Amino acid sequence: MYERRYYHAEVTLSEDGRLVCQACGAEVDKFLRSPQQCRYPTSAVTVIGELPICIHVSNLRATLIAEIPTSASTVKIVVLAPDEDIADELDNLLATDVENQGGLNISGFYTLSDETAQKVDEWLRTGKLRLQM
Ligand SMILES: [Zn+2]
Repeated sequence: MYERRYYHAEVTLSEDGRLVCQACGAEVDKFLRSPQQCRYPTSAVTVIGELPICIHVSNLRATLIAEIPTSASTVKIVVLAPDEDIADELDNLLATDVENQGGLNISGFYTLSDETAQKVDEWLRTGKLRLQM
């Protein structure tokens, strides 16, 4: 099971202390995310087993990362390392997701496709993906 949480483009603090996106009206959490998609295309984390997960691209490489909250509003980025027997399959899934949303030449954060999310869920539960602390 997984849930997507999208980043929002124009978040401001309202007078009553809520974080609200001015572009679409969504109320967001302290990480500027909500289950609702923004009016502008933004990436999403996919929450799998309470871990917010996305794909990070830099230097033409795609890596699966999790954002672990460390305090009220900061997160630590942790790489999810695959077992050798799933490494190629994971690389292919990430490459396809990145191609469909931009490309390896565009650094940034990318969203897991349904197919990738289901596999990652399975691999986390079977211990084939582990947090590289
Ligand atoms: Zn928005």
